[in-house]
Order: sequence, then C-alpha cells, then structure tokens
Amino acid sequence: ERERAIADAALPATTRDGRTVDVLVNVGVVQDAVEVRGADGSGLVRTEVLFGDRRTAPSADEQAEVFLDIARALGNKPITIRTWDIGGDKPLPFLPQEREPNPFLGERGLRVFRRRPELLRDQLAAIRRTAAETPVHVMFPMVTTADEVDWALHELGPRDNLEVGIMVEVPAAALRVATLAKDLDFVSIGTNDLTQYTTAADRTNAAVAPLADGLDPAVLQLIDHVVRTAGVRVAVCGDLASDPQAAVLLAALGVTELSAVGPQVPLVKARLRQADLSQVDTAAALAARDAAQVRGLL
Ligand code: PEP
Ligand code: MG
Repeated sequence: ERERAIADAALPATTRDGRTVDVLVNVGVVQDAVEVRGADGSGLVRTEVLFGDRRTAPSADEQAEVFLDIARALGNKPITIRTWDIGGDKPLPFLPQEREPNPFLGERGLRVFRRRPELLRDQLAAIRRTAAETPVHVMFPMVTTADEVDWALHELGPRDNLEVGIMVEVPAAALRVATLAKDLDFVSIGTNDLTQYTTAADRTNAAVAPLADGLDPAVLQLIDHVVRTAGVRVAVCGDLASDPQAAVLLAALGVTELSAVGPQVPLVKARLRQADLSQVDTAAALAARDAAQVRGLL
C-alpha cells in the first residue's frame, strides 16, 4: 500500500467528491524537502530547528540561501517560512532567554521579539530576499492578540509578493480568528500547541499525554470555528495533519491545506483520494464524548 502511495505521490489529492486538498511537507532540515515525494510545497519551515545547531545567529544572506535550497528541492512550489519559534521546549543558543517558571505560558514565539525586535529583523530581511526569487509565505507563531498581528505586520513592512499568515495555536486566537486574520492571507492551525493549551496538558509530559489528543472534540470544535469564521484560507500544520484518518476529517471540516511529516505525505494524499468528504459525519465527530469515540467514527 505504501509503495502504491509513493508511486502515485505526484498526483493531486482530489477526493471522490472532487475536492482537492494541498498536501505539503513540514521541514526542519533541508533533507526533509529533498527526500519527500509528492509535496505541494512546504506548509511549515521550522526555522528554529533549521538553524538550531548554530552557536551564532545566521546572517540574512545565510538564511536566504538555506530557504532557497528548500524551495529548489520542492520544485519552487510555495514554502511557508515560520519566524523563530523559540521558548517553551525550544531553546536557541544564539537567542538566550531568561529562565521562566512556566515557559509554555511565557515568552514564546512572537512574544519574545516584541521586547527585542532587532532579533527578528535579519530573518524578515532573509524572508523578503527569498520571496524575490520563489513563492514564499511568511507565518508568525504563538499569536494571541490583534495587537500582536498589527505589530508583526509593521515589522514586516511592505508585503510585495509575500503571502502573510499566523499560526493559530492559542485557544484565544482560534476563538477570535476573524479579528486576527482581517489583514492576513491565511492562517495555519498548529494542532500540537492548540491541543496542549486547550486540554491544559503539557505536550512534553508523558504522564498527561493521553489528555493531549488532537482528536479531542474540544480541539475539533475550535478547528471547526476557525474554518467557519477565519475568512481566509485555513491550513493545518500540526501533527494531526500527518494522520491519514484525521486528515480526512480535517478536509471534511473545510481545511484546504495540510502540512505533514515527509514520510506521511504520500499516505495522506492516497487516503484523501479514497475519501468522499460528503460522507464524513463531521457533526458526530464534533459532538463526540471523547477522542476515542472520534477515532471509532473515523
Ligand atoms: C504546532 O504547535 O502544532 C506546530 C506545528 O508547531 P510546533 O510543533 O513547532 O510548536
Ligand atoms: Mg507550535
């Protein structure tokens, strides 16, 4: 089945009822973009992972070169570059942070840079430079308020040919996504953090792992709310998008772009091609008592 899916990887993921879902790849190292089969671009370039082994900050030129390598490996299909998402469980040696009692609730992602905007500027310059050569989407992580969106857009400057979006991974952002996305081109749901914050279960703590299930109907209700109210294209780039069964449910809820780990891309596409989204009982999934029941439905 896997070999068949890989052979068909270049075909679009068009469902039986005629909906085409873009399936992209998550990139943490350039090799992820080189090895993947059938990706429609990258829906998440984790820059803090890409440059995570550096002792000193990469220059804008260095960053742009690596971004271009990724784009080329993907046949110059669009790549979605996420700005530094540090904090929580992700330290970066060249962006030292103070210790915090609750790092997942502290200065993470975009929050880090409001006090130190100069640390973001080289990266935005690199993203701009890359966008002059190949299609680029830029995405800001860990956004909570409309003020943060305004601030990020101000720091970014002229948008030229860039598409601009935010990650929706905080429940407050999911609930007021219409306000946050007013001046954006897209939003991308980070189900890993959205699940962690919705269920109040630390994503790195194995003891509470069963609580942090992306198929929890509470998480699905937030995803449904985002799709219905965002007013812009909605993607999912969290781990839920790498699960072929969950991918069908996400597509049935109205998500039009999924970004998965490389080896899952052909499998997610193959599963979507077999699916009839009009037959998926999304109402039952949203009303289910727990994640196990949703899994049963799928
Ligand atoms: C997420 O939170 O779902 C996500 C894609 O970002 P990360 O896993 O890098 O925090
Ligand atoms: Mg996240």
